[in-house]
Amino acid sequence: MSGQSSLESLTLQTLALSKEVLRGMRDLVFPRDCLVTGIGLDEDGHHYLSGEAVRNLYPIRSPHCQTCGFPFFGELIGTRECPHCIELDPDFEQGRSLLLARDTGRALIHELKYRGGAYVLSDIQRILADVPEFRTFLEGATLIPVPLHRKRQRKRGFNQSLLLAELFAREVNEASVANILCRTRNTSSQTRLKRRERHNNVKNAFALRRGAIIDSGIRYVLIDDVFTTGATLNACSKVLRSAGAGQIDVATLAHG
Ligand SMILES: [Zn+2]
Repeated sequence: MSGQSSLESLTLQTLALSKEVLRGMRDLVFPRDCLVTGIGLDEDGHHYLSGEAVRNLYPIRSPHCQTCGFPFFGELIGTRECPHCIELDPDFEQGRSLLLARDTGRALIHELKYRGGAYVLSDIQRILADVPEFRTFLEGATLIPVPLHRKRQRKRGFNQSLLLAELFAREVNEASVANILCRTRNTSSQTRLKRRERHNNVKNAFALRRGAIIDSGIRYVLIDDVFTTGATLNACSKVLRSAGAGQIDVATLAHG
């Protein structure tokens, strides 16, 4: 990472942190309500989620698709084809998600991404504590956040994938963060695009940062907020693969 981008990243992280501190100060004056239901909070260890919101969280546990982490409901008989991975020709090996992007999971992402709600990381940390198999998946890995284009990052003030990677690295044994990818094209939002369009939209949109080194003996896990079609994670995997990476896996906060 160059000195200037390192400084820029530091400044952006500081800004995100300042919002968190301000939120904390406001909470001292006004009692908090659940960010999903708006009702008062229970004393169950969650900072911003009521018991009702927690009941509408869907942490993902086995059995699930090995490629994208989507849960298989009911009894698993033989191998089951995952609807999310049928057309995906993954350049990564395995994928996991912590939650389904439904109900409370969707609200957490929305708060984190679009409302600058870095404070929800404290509840994501709490959820992470309840899903040991997700933590085990990240153990010993070098976590690489999916980058935002610098213009979008400047507008948002932070990269949510970097914040998630840093949280995961703090909570998992022997994991570290390497912020070594950059976005070379400011691609349009994937939200309204169909599967094929998503792949074309992010094709060749990523590169290694100048001076970044890939070690073929390291296990890398790409980190993003949501897995939808896998297009973005696949495009990032291709960059790592062509730079000589050996094992590449992916992990996201939620599966959409
Ligand atoms: Zn899948």
